[in-house]
Amino acid sequence: MHVLVLGGTTEGRRLAERLLTDGTVRVTSSLAGRVATPRMPPGDVRVGGFGGVEGLARWLREHEVGAVIDATHPFAGTISFNAARAAADAHVPLLALRRPGWDAADGDDWHPVGSLEEAADRAPALGSRVFLTTGRMGLASFAHIDDAWFLLRSVDAPEGPRPARMDVLLDRGPFTLDGERELIRRHRIDVLVTKDSGGAATAPKLTAAREAGVPVVIVRRPPVPDGVPVAATPEEAAAWLADYSG
Ligand code: NAP
Repeated sequence: MHVLVLGGTTEGRRLAERLLTDGTVRVTSSLAGRVATPRMPPGDVRVGGFGGVEGLARWLREHEVGAVIDATHPFAGTISFNAARAAADAHVPLLALRRPGWDAADGDDWHPVGSLEEAADRAPALGSRVFLTTGRMGLASFAHIDDAWFLLRSVDAPEGPRPARMDVLLDRGPFTLDGERELIRRHRIDVLVTKDSGGAATAPKLTAAREAGVPVVIVRRPPVPDGVPVAATPEEAAAWLADYSG
């Protein structure tokens, strides 16, 4: 069976590795092409958009895909919505692989918000030196803020509108607790803005913020499309596929 893994995440890569090791299916991983030098999954890889729901449904038919696993980032809402529609149109089963979100611990000062725009409203009221870890793509939401300084951490350099007072740190996880403590100390960070991405690779910033008494503006996840089953780990996803393919 041919399996399409919509990727761009550590979990997507691990799932491709796992399925190829099992050796029972053919795997194509799909990447959006946003990152200049992505970490490539093993097996076949295609890069770039499909052209919306219709393009994806066509791709599924033309490549005789027997199952789709949407292992995209929890905040990549458009492709997940497109995958749900296209898989239904092409009569192909779909599973969402979503790492669980983070839970607040004792001592955390979290401020949940529903969008980047809300995060931009909330953050300057909490601090004036903002550690912004929501990625370069959503930077425009913060561009109008001139009464705060930002440290943006992103994999690639940002383009387009940006806050007037901002430094950029190009880096890619996993990050260490010692490193995150040092960043918060050195830059005198007094508010952290993050998406609820979940996972261990970028979680140390939350511990470092808690220890330093730094409030965290945390953007809630968009929902998984209605009716799509969810696996929390690549292992669970592989088990779903094994059950399905018998
Ligand atoms: P998005 O808003 O959900 O998707 C926008 C468009 O990008 C989609 O309509 C689709 O184009 C294309 N696309 C997205 N993921 C794709 C994939 N895996 N393969 C082929 N085309 C894809 O996505 P996004 O938030 O820009 O994220 C893009 C990619 O980066 C995702 O694959 C995601 O896993 C990864 N990523 C995102 C975040 C984040 O915070 N959003 C963080 C880390 C990694 P067409 O309509 O033309 O098919």
